[in-house]
This record gives sequence, C-alpha cells and structure tokens, in this order.
Amino acid sequence: MDKQKLYQSVEKSKDILTELSDKIWSFAELSMKEFKSAEYYCQVMEEQGFTVERQLCGIPTAFSGKYGTGKPVIGILGEFDALDGLSQEAGIAERKPLAGNTCGHGCGHNMLGAASLGAAMAIKEAITAGDLQGTVIFYGCPGEEGCAGKTFMARDGMFRDLDAAITWHPGDVNEIMTGSNAASLQFEYSFTGVAAHAAGDPQNGRSALDAAELMNMGVQFLREHMDKKESVHYAFLNVGGVSPNVVQPTAIVLYMIRGETVRKAKALKKRVDDVAQGAALMTGTTVTFRQIDGTASTISNQVLEKLLHDNMLAAPLPEYTPEEWELAGKVRETYHTEELPGTGIRENADLKSFMCKKTQGGKRALNDFVVPYYPMFTYSPGSTDVGDVSWLTPTAQFTAVTWASGSPGHSWQNVSLGHSSIGYKGLLYAAKALAGSCADLMEDPELLKKARAEFEISAAEGYDCPIGPEVVPGE
Ligand SMILES: [Zn+2]
Ligand SMILES: [Zn+2]
Repeated sequence: MDKQKLYQSVEKSKDILTELSDKIWSFAELSMKEFKSAEYYCQVMEEQGFTVERQLCGIPTAFSGKYGTGKPVIGILGEFDALDGLSQEAGIAERKPLAGNTCGHGCGHNMLGAASLGAAMAIKEAITAGDLQGTVIFYGCPGEEGCAGKTFMARDGMFRDLDAAITWHPGDVNEIMTGSNAASLQFEYSFTGVAAHAAGDPQNGRSALDAAELMNMGVQFLREHMDKKESVHYAFLNVGGVSPNVVQPTAIVLYMIRGETVRKAKALKKRVDDVAQGAALMTGTTVTFRQIDGTASTISNQVLEKLLHDNMLAAPLPEYTPEEWELAGKVRETYHTEELPGTGIRENADLKSFMCKKTQGGKRALNDFVVPYYPMFTYSPGSTDVGDVSWLTPTAQFTAVTWASGSPGHSWQNVSLGHSSIGYKGLLYAAKALAGSCADLMEDPELLKKARAEFEISAAEGYDCPIGPEVVPGE
C-alpha cells in the first residue's frame, strides 16, 4: 500500500497521540501501579474501535487492543510506567521537580506506548479502508521498570501466536537495536536471626544483618570468578531496624543476577544461593529465597531489523526548529558526554567514522539522521523484557530520537524533553516507521516466512522462562 497514506493517518491522529503521551507523562505511575494510565489507554482504544481486553494474565494493568481478522497477526508492544525521583517540569533545560508526584518518565515510556498505539491506529484505518488484511494487536505491557511485565505475560501464554512483534524505545539516536541483552533474575534473600541486647546479651543474639553483610562480601569474592558477561547487583531492603543496641533479627537483600542466557543466569544464581547459605551458617541464622521477577536474553531477528530500518529511512524524519535546536543544546550542557551516541558503534570502524562525521564527534545537539544498519553480534549487559517476547515470536525494535544527544538514561533531562515538541516529533516518526513495517508484514507473506525461518534457528533452544510459576507480578 501507499505508505504516504499511513503517514497521513498518523499525522491525523497527532492530537490524540500527543495528548495521550502528555497524560501518561502527567500520571507518571510506577511499575505495576499504572492504573490511571492503563484505563486511559483502554478508553482511547475503545473510542477508536479496538476490541479491548483488560487485566491480561490477571495483571491489573496489562491490556491489549485488537483490530482486524485473520492472518497475519502482528503485535506492537507498548510500555507506560514511570520512575521514582524524576519528577521534572516539561520543556526546560534546568532541574526543577514538580510539586506533588515524585515520579517522572525518565525512560520515555509515555511516548513509547503512544507511538506504538499510533502505529496500530494507522494500521486499523488501512484495514478498514481495505488496503491491508490481517490483525493488529497493541499490547499494553506494564512494569517494564523493575518488574518485567512482559515476562509474566509471556509465562502465561501471550505473544506465542503472533506472526511477529515490533516495538521501539525513545532515545537519542534513530537506530536499530540489534545484538543481544543479558538475561536477569531478581531474588530476595531474607535472613532471620535472634534479637538480643547488643551489649547485655550478645551471646544469645544471632544477627541477620551480619549474615546479609557476609553474603554481600562473599558475592564480592565470587565476582572475580564469574564469566565476563555476568553481573550481580544488590540493594538492602531491610536492615533489621535502626537501633545499634539491638542484635538485628531480620535483614533482606534484593539481588539482581545477570547472565548471557537464562540458563547461565540460573547457574550463577545457584552459586549466589550457596554464598547466602554459607553466610547463614556462619552466623547461626536462616535464609529463605523469593523470586521477584526475571527477563530472558534477547534474540535479534535480522529480517525484521532490516525491515524496520527500511521503514525508518522511508518515513519522513523530523525537522527541528531553531528553538528546538537551542533547547536541546542547553539540555546537553547539563551533562557531560564524550561518547558517540548509539549502541555497538565503537565495534565497527565504518559506523564509527559515519557517526563521528554526522554528530561532529558527538557534539551535535540532536541526531537528525538514521544510523546505517549493520547487524552486529553485540552484547548489552543490561536487560529488557522484550527479550522474553523475542523467544516466542520473531521480534525487532529500534530507537528514535526524542531526547538531546548523549542524554543519560533515566534522567530528568529525558522527562523534560519527553513532554516537548522534540518528543512529539520523535513519537510521530516512530509511529510512522512502525506502521510502515507492520503494513509490509501484512502485505508480504514471504517476508514473514523469512523472519520465521531465522527465528526457528535462533530460538531453537526454546523459551526458558526466567520466572517460576509461583511468582506473582508486582509482589
Ligand atoms: Zn528504563
Ligand atoms: Zn525503557
């Protein structure tokens, strides 16, 4: 079909999409507590004529909106959760938290969901007009930050029946996300000891806090003997009280354990368990484990990545006004960056020299171009729950510019520009690139076949769900 029609359709929905993005920005709801955001999405989709399903997999804020009938079935993934401590006034280049809510959209998920729905709306219009055939499903995936909503949805049967899934993420560069991400497991280790007067009765006390500290020290030594692609991080959730004169009877440490695959992360977790048991033995305490969440590694699909890239090139790129360049420039002065933007770039000499030229050595305020696509077998030490989807259906994703160049992730700078004309332009561009890709997938069964054939090989091992059946999302 004529892609211009799709782009016009996205432009026609501009007010609905920017309002949706701004509303979610203002709600700024944390992982798994996105009640207002989810309901707002469902209402917009019902008004648009989508068949809406609320509370998918028993998760109060997971939902989907479906339109069309028959094959192929293409999924477009959306997120909408915020981060704590990042409340920030919109469209300015200085740190200024808003009164009231302490949370902010530092990862740009307000735009992420809005653009994905914008693409689904354009596809819906094309199906209605008889230009396309098939089914499009927008997935409202909650709790990307610190809960991995998609993993729970994947565990409970979502995504498996899709012919393909596509998505994007706000960023500082228009680029295909390729390569793999680490798998991760989050576990709580709870130590229980015996309280006692720390001076008067120490012989009868058994310190859970000592155990937790020894566990952290043990893991510190373990780090030297892990694979380079593995990492372990921790945070104290409970230190057993604030009185030094009481032997602390409880302590809880939250661990995030990362490996190249779920299997490797699980093997590393066993070693961390042993360290915890050792710490309990040393202190005469007991320890229990509880899983919070997990994510699988990501499988990239080059057929789909190439398709997304073609559509990023086909869609009209945002053009920025002098005021937008100035704002991005000022925002850029608030952080220090010496690195070239983009992922995996330093591994490829051609790409590196392209980026040096295009970004004036990384100094340009906005990256108003598309990075060439080189399939790269890069490994990102971070994790994403898009990984779980990628084990169930051919999946690909890209980043589009919504922020100033080099902008740090999870930052107030991103919250500020996520509610500005720079952010709006990025989200509309992303919607067009996603809609164009979805249209190609609906029109070209050969493309889907090729993507599936690649997937059959790369996912041959099968999906190893990183979370157990007993784990409850958000608990
Ligand atoms: Zn994030
Ligand atoms: Zn994010």
